[in-house]
Amino acid sequence: MLEKMEILHVEKVIEEFETMTKDTENVQRETLKKILEENGSAEYLQNLGLNGRTDPQSFKACVPVVTHQDLDPYIQRIVDGASSPILTGKPITTISLSSGTTQGRPKFVPFNDELMETTLQIFRTSYAFRNREFPVKNGKALQFIYSSKQSRTKGGLFAGTATTNVFRNSQFKKAMKAMQSQCCSPDEVIFGPDFRQSLYCHLLCGLIFREEIQLVSSTFAHSIVHAFRTLEQVWEELCVDIREGILTSRITFPSVRSAMAKLLKPNPELADLIRRKISGLSNWYGLIPELFPNVKYIYGIMTGSMEHYLKKLRHYAGDVPLISADYGSSEGWIGANINPNVPTESTTYAVLPNIGYFEFIPLKENVEEQVHDRGDANILSMEPKPVSLTEVKIGEEYEVIVTSFAGLYRYRLGDVVKVMGFHNSTPELKFICRRNLMLTVNIDKNTEKDLQQAVEEAAKLIAEEKQEVIDFSSHVDMWTDPGHYVIFWEISGEVSDEVLKECCNCLDRSFVDAGYVSSRKVNAIGPLELRILRRGTFQKVLDHYLGLGAAVSQFKTPRCVGPTNYKVLQILCDNVVKTYFSTAF
Ligand code: AMP
Repeated sequence: MLEKMEILHVEKVIEEFETMTKDTENVQRETLKKILEENGSAEYLQNLGLNGRTDPQSFKACVPVVTHQDLDPYIQRIVDGASSPILTGKPITTISLSSGTTQGRPKFVPFNDELMETTLQIFRTSYAFRNREFPVKNGKALQFIYSSKQSRTKGGLFAGTATTNVFRNSQFKKAMKAMQSQCCSPDEVIFGPDFRQSLYCHLLCGLIFREEIQLVSSTFAHSIVHAFRTLEQVWEELCVDIREGILTSRITFPSVRSAMAKLLKPNPELADLIRRKISGLSNWYGLIPELFPNVKYIYGIMTGSMEHYLKKLRHYAGDVPLISADYGSSEGWIGANINPNVPTESTTYAVLPNIGYFEFIPLKENVEEQVHDRGDANILSMEPKPVSLTEVKIGEEYEVIVTSFAGLYRYRLGDVVKVMGFHNSTPELKFICRRNLMLTVNIDKNTEKDLQQAVEEAAKLIAEEKQEVIDFSSHVDMWTDPGHYVIFWEISGEVSDEVLKECCNCLDRSFVDAGYVSSRKVNAIGPLELRILRRGTFQKVLDHYLGLGAAVSQFKTPRCVGPTNYKVLQILCDNVVKTYFSTAF
């Protein structure tokens, strides 16, 4: 009976979502009111002259649009243990470290119970819609989730990545249970101090419970691909452990060893079965359903910078559906994937109007662009004019601004989204790219998305040779005159110079931005350079970020490495094995 009661009532969740999204404007108004009332005593809001007003007009008139940099001094005081209310009414006790993969260093953002509750609401919402199409039974999930190191700040606050803060929260486990998506690995594995050891044990637990696994997931698709690439290397060792019922000596942490000892019993039949299954595969195609026969879908964020990993993930997944997880950030959640049936690349995220107050800067009217186009520096003093959630237009692109329950007011998230449609009266957003990720030498502008498309195009040439781009990044080299784009590729195996030279030309030609093409034609931008990296280079980049306190769960390969990100640039440059310059222009 108790078990039954714990299961999430999906129809009720959907009904609540439908009701709320039919009244988006009012719900947004009420949400803003609630945020401002709960946090009205915070110093930041007190100083802005709202004087108790909570309506959107007064809010927009009094509160400036800010970036993380603007709020950093306030957050720093919280981190250092200031006892007065600074950004929120209730004191902040936990800090999230955003992955920082884009900037090269993690940022601090406040985390609180309200943020946890909105996280769960997003999880429940997408689960409810997903479960209608792809029902899971009361089984287990093979979840590649990891906790980063949790530390204490100078002021005594807990600090960890946002995913760590979520996974460690007691509500998380309950929610996963209610969604019948409980991780098959024990806590000691999830919270193990070494992610490689945790990954090995996740794989082992998955194989032990192979019949019960209903879904395979991780926060971002990268971790799922990384996990199965690792399985390709360690599967024989995993089989030995299963055959003998003894964990390999490479797992050294006593807590992890003793937790695994409780699960591991000698099972030669299972070891033989796994060996047979893997030996029967052709180039690892369909590995996931072969090993986990009852898996219903694979789940994790698959849009944006994760799109690169989809090809490999599809290969492992065979005919098992891939479903992208929701859209959010350490700063707060935004939308849920309520259309799990659409192809992954077309995933949209329906905004939940009660988890924050949302505004959008139209990119068409973007101030910087106006400055650029009109050469009018005075426009810089103009504020960008954001529109509200219900004012966005289908087909337009916007930068997202968030006002959260965790002390961020009119905060520029830095993401670009496109409005693809509406669900009732709430917009459905497609994630486009990070706004600040821009390859630019002079008048050219290429985003993360442009880079990804160029890489996709050029990668087709090595696909003909049965090779793939494992991962990639880029850099603008201004040391040369003129400056030029550098693309870093780690590839799976040997490819001839001739083909790589063609890839380099193809990359150069694939940046079709008018500024780039015209500059290339007159050599105002130098020939694009393709640098091939030693195998394992991106693993070193990952290790570097883990050393800084990032978590594998939140890792995103930096697609463009800025000149101040010395360490990553050095790792990439130190591991170059071949270099090609384009002759496309
Ligand atoms: P973090 O720094 O780990 O908090 O990462 C948050 C960022 O990850 C967001 O601002 C987005 O740029 C990206 N992100 C999160 N969810 C998605 C998604 N569903 N699709 C694409 N990118 C996402």
